[in-house]
Amino acid sequence: MSIVGVLALQGDFAEHAAILRRLDADAREIRLPSDLEGVDRLIIPGGESTTIARLMEMYGLVEPIRAFAAYRPVWGTCAGMIVMARRATDLDRETLGLMDVSVVRNAFGRQLDSFETDLEIEELPGPPLHAVFIRAPLIKDAGPAVKVMARIDGKGIVAAREGHLLATAFHPELTGDTRMHQYFLTLGGEVSSVK
Ligand code: GLN
Repeated sequence: MSIVGVLALQGDFAEHAAILRRLDADAREIRLPSDLEGVDRLIIPGGESTTIARLMEMYGLVEPIRAFAAYRPVWGTCAGMIVMARRATDLDRETLGLMDVSVVRNAFGRQLDSFETDLEIEELPGPPLHAVFIRAPLIKDAGPAVKVMARIDGKGIVAAREGHLLATAFHPELTGDTRMHQYFLTLGGEVSSVK
């Protein structure tokens, strides 16, 4: 059984933990560096990236998460994707700089503030994934090691993977569909079954 940490500083960590428990993973809330001990993989949830980045600094989590991510899978959703990126527009703090991507915050502007759409994601078996976007960011540029998993035409990349690092601009924890979480549990060699 995988022990999955969910960064629980701000945002929708409880929803991620609930899905993980449905998948029989051992979900642990991470608030301090010592909470990372024994954890196999980490989710950085959606919320407000400025707040999450500030609290990560305050609790001394920046370097421990960087060290963790060198060997273990990390997945950022929405604000989590912003703090994982090497470059992010108009964020008043340093990002974790884990993934070789440039992210634009609030990339859909006011009119499209929040919306839902279906995404074809080759890595997920079955029908297109229903995806919920809330004041979502976009990946505008990605380095050569980054595999694009989904994009919105004319806009940019909304799901990508670089080795054992995963980023999604949307919120898979807000729909009943567990496939994205199942996919994350397969990353990093420790394969669990994706149905
Ligand atoms: N707009 C938020 C930010 O810039 C992200 C929104 C979200 O995580 N749903 O941090």
